[in-house]
Amino acid sequence: MARIVFVVNQHPTEAFSASVAVETAKHLRKAGHEIVWEKIKPGETMLGAVLRPRGKKKFSERKLTDIEQNINQRILTMLEKNKADLLYDFHATPPENVLWKKKHTGAEHDYSFDGEYHGEQGRTVEVKAYYQSLPKRILRKIEQRMPEVVGTFRMDYFSKVTSPKLTRQAGLTKEEFGKAIAERIQRQIARLAHGESLNTFEYGKIPRRFPKPKPRAHARRR
Ligand SMILES: [Zn+2]
Repeated sequence: MARIVFVVNQHPTEAFSASVAVETAKHLRKAGHEIVWEKIKPGETMLGAVLRPRGKKKFSERKLTDIEQNINQRILTMLEKNKADLLYDFHATPPENVLWKKKHTGAEHDYSFDGEYHGEQGRTVEVKAYYQSLPKRILRKIEQRMPEVVGTFRMDYFSKVTSPKLTRQAGLTKEEFGKAIAERIQRQIARLAHGESLNTFEYGKIPRRFPKPKPRAHARRR
């Protein structure tokens, strides 16, 4: 049986993906696997830092990128720290994103497994989700704290949050995502157990190494 790290809450505006992780965990535990949770605290995230109640400092794009890269570096240590076999980092992406148009990125139905960021045994799981606007007072606060982001992709990213209700209305449910993703993870576990390759990587033939993370997909896709 496998020990699996689930990373959630790196991006607080993608909270729907954390509920998908909970559903996925139920299936995997039932199958006898162990799930170790790594929950990124709100204050450690980009948006959390910007919205910190007593903060007065203005944030630069550079500062945000540093916060993001620090989290990515930490995620790379979580597999070893937890002596785990696999790691999955849960995120959400809106339907209009180019991710869902690129078949070769591994986008399967309404979710995708990306092996680019977290080493051989780590995957970024993106689920398709519908979004709604954040309340105006929060948007104003972001603009005050980060004048640099107004009108950029970053403001667009910060300005909306996943809506479980709208997502469900579009026929995408956390239950179905959880079931499908758990099945896919079990196929990956089976391949590991047989010493076969995990996607493009030859498990067991190359030493464990943890490459430096590339900038997050959000920054490049938008
Ligand atoms: Zn994300």
